[in-house]
Amino acid sequence: MFNHLKGKTAVITGSTSGIGLGIAKNFAKHGMNIVINGFGDADEIEKERKDLERHGVKAIYNGADMTKPDEIESLIKEAQATFGSVDILVNNAGIQYVAPVEDFPPAKWEAIMSINLSSAFYTCHHAIPLMKKQGWGRVINMCSAHGLVASPYKTAYVAAKHGILGFTKSLALEVAENNIRVNAICPGYVKTPLVEGQIADTAKSRGITEEEVVKDVLLKAQHTKEFVTIEQVADIALFLCSSAADNMTGSPVIVDGGWTAA
Ligand code: NAD
Repeated sequence: MFNHLKGKTAVITGSTSGIGLGIAKNFAKHGMNIVINGFGDADEIEKERKDLERHGVKAIYNGADMTKPDEIESLIKEAQATFGSVDILVNNAGIQYVAPVEDFPPAKWEAIMSINLSSAFYTCHHAIPLMKKQGWGRVINMCSAHGLVASPYKTAYVAAKHGILGFTKSLALEVAENNIRVNAICPGYVKTPLVEGQIADTAKSRGITEEEVVKDVLLKAQHTKEFVTIEQVADIALFLCSSAADNMTGSPVIVDGGWTAA
């Protein structure tokens, strides 16, 4: 189910932290060469890059800023120049900002739109021709339960996540006969630095304590009363590259503790 993945190249945006890093580790464990991307402390990133190579694969780091189309083009070009191909693309980079619409800084709106939505257009714009040429490709877009339902004070994030699901479906149809599959993962809350920041912001927006945010806001909708784990999302990403998922495309794969079932 996973043997064909050995030696393939995976580009994972936003993989210096949280879910993206979890996916990079899981993919390296299954023999894939990795391009990591994202921001952070240079020494820490180098440590993570070397750690991926413990699995006998090659890993490189490219620091392309997902708000900059020319840097995104260089990311895909560097992956191709280093490994000869881009087989798997995970559009995972994302940020969050929580505020009432009248206080929402326009610059934050623009940043969320470009990092959480438009960057996936630019990576695909450059990577899909490579996948078409080799007759195989897998694209995974990191969506969210917020790609299916909304919460207040997250206009930009919810709009971008609904957008990435539409992008996923349209592209899936477009490349279906090229043996390229395009799917989205829709997690509920996963405890990563992105969510930790959000706990503080939501407490401020709603005038409640951080403990109340976790209990009454984040996990209220998650009927299992548990955070989704990074490892669970990383295993779903691996599954979407496996032969079992060869006929899945244009799908939102939901892992949200029952949130959107209610
Ligand atoms: P995180 O903050 O831990 O990681 C985000 C990554 O994106 C980091 O590597 C960061 O450096 C990178 N990044 C941010 N801005 C960037 C830019 N301009 N250019 C390149 N890289 C940039 O967040 P996370 O929780 O792991 O989130 C990853 C993805 O999962 C996001 O798309 C997020 O919306 C989605 N998601 C997260 C949750 C959750 O509960 N944590 C739930 C659903 C969906």
